[in-house]
Amino acid sequence: MDDTTHETLDAVIIGAGFSGLYMLQKLRSLGLRVHVLEAASDVGGTWWWNRYPGARCDIESFDYSYSFDADLEQTWEWSERYATQPEILAYVNHVADRFDLRRDISFDTRMLEARWNDETTTWNLTTDTGRSIDAHYCIMAVGCLSQANHPTFEGMEEFSGRTLHTGEWPHEGVDVTGLRVGVIGTGSSAIQSIPLLAEQAEQLTVFQRTPAFTLPAMNAPLDPETVADFKARYREHREATRHSNGGVLTTLAEESALAVEAAERDRRFEAAWKSGTLFGLLSSFSDLMIDPQANELAAQFVRDQIVRIVDDPVIAERLSPHSFPIGTKRLCLDTGYYATYNRPNVELVDLRTEPIDRFTATGMSVGDREIPLDVIVFATGFDAMTGALLAPRIIGRDGITLKQKWAEGPRTYLGIATSGFPNLFTITGPGSPSVLTNMLVSIEQHVEWTAACIEWLEQQGAASIEANVDAENGWADHVTEVAGFTLYPTGNSWYLGSNIEGKPRVFMPYIAGVEIFRTVCDDVAANGYRGFTIST
Ligand code: NAP
Repeated sequence: MDDTTHETLDAVIIGAGFSGLYMLQKLRSLGLRVHVLEAASDVGGTWWWNRYPGARCDIESFDYSYSFDADLEQTWEWSERYATQPEILAYVNHVADRFDLRRDISFDTRMLEARWNDETTTWNLTTDTGRSIDAHYCIMAVGCLSQANHPTFEGMEEFSGRTLHTGEWPHEGVDVTGLRVGVIGTGSSAIQSIPLLAEQAEQLTVFQRTPAFTLPAMNAPLDPETVADFKARYREHREATRHSNGGVLTTLAEESALAVEAAERDRRFEAAWKSGTLFGLLSSFSDLMIDPQANELAAQFVRDQIVRIVDDPVIAERLSPHSFPIGTKRLCLDTGYYATYNRPNVELVDLRTEPIDRFTATGMSVGDREIPLDVIVFATGFDAMTGALLAPRIIGRDGITLKQKWAEGPRTYLGIATSGFPNLFTITGPGSPSVLTNMLVSIEQHVEWTAACIEWLEQQGAASIEANVDAENGWADHVTEVAGFTLYPTGNSWYLGSNIEGKPRVFMPYIAGVEIFRTVCDDVAANGYRGFTIST
């Protein structure tokens, strides 16, 4: 598309990550005129932006990939159990080439505003490149963890060194050899990058506000026999994951952690620890995410591992989480994280006892001392699930913006639609399982449901589809209610918006899992899109 023209399309997709690319492929196959707007310079979404050292997936490669094309999964060769960011990006590029997707994508183009026109039943979109596009459908495929969180500290502008955010890592890479590096944060991004930064930097100082629970990834190269064996049963495996709870094959044990002998409990926790999977530990008993006492047993098991790995008992205790039930803030998978604190060039600063006072020209002032730094890495995470949806101005029916509508927290029907915003679809939006599952399985489910819905609307010659307020309120209450049966809402997590100052506290993901959610969505569709108003 030409930057100066006004264009009319059937559908516009925002984002060329995993969800946007598949959405493009699906809508194209329906014969629609569809185009993708992408702020980055190429495909990949989160994997285009997050290039910090050590960035890799914590869902196994075989599962963290598209399932929609049987040939694709046979053709592509993963080299490690957990793929690195460059390998995943290479895969996304391969997919874009294979399906010739780039010809319908505009890169370096950020959607600034989308305004609904009730008369023409179209969305008018404007971009930072001066484009104006009318489209019947607008699909937000902007990702759940794509709006970086940039906390501010006094004196930041005085700091003469370099500041970086893990989610916006420079593409040319950063050489920290011989430099004094500070990392703020100890979530997944920090936990992956700290071991590698420590190997390169002269001195690494980690500024920790809340210690995280992390398990060893047990990553390893994939051998040809494993790959061949897996590929032979790939279809069967995909089908099973599609109908699983978390989008990966993990079985939740039937017994309570409180009902077995200590030795049996330890044996299971140990096996889960050694399995190197994200979901294994919390699935090893039925009630770890429901019963605080059971949960504490798993938490203590991990704390015991920290004491075992970290030489200095004071540092081990500093690294041990006590302020939230294990799993209520997202678990991390790491390679050598705790052992990194045994290195002589690594220091852990506990911000609860030595808070950051300010940045200075040469480093950071914490507690009553100054720490000299050349580079400060913000591993401070994202404005999750709603940040990227609320970044552009989305103006629905009656001039109400999405920001206004969601002022008290996001409200959606099935995570995909919100009343007052007809023909707007939010892939893996708040109220869908998304971040609590293997994202790829959830993405495919939401994309396929949306494509089928659009195909149906086209067949009906419908002008618009809009979630009903009642259906939306019912869904929002249901999402909150089921989360309330678990310990999840008790952790101050980004699932709840707790990491962003002033953000309403709403438990955003749908906890019941992929299979239940799929059944609900399919049932809604089978009943003439129950809970939606279709206008002709
Ligand atoms: P995160 O989990 O939200 O961690 C952010 C860290 O920064 C936390 O330790 C937080 O402390 C700290 N922090 C934030 N603001 C701060 C401030 N003002 N002062 C001091 N500390 C501050 O973010 P993330 O590590 O980028 O991970 C986000 C999510 O992305 C993960 O949970 C995961 O879902 C996904 N992710 C996945 C992978 C993977 O697949 N391997 C890798 C990276 C990220 P508090 O806890 O006290 O708020």
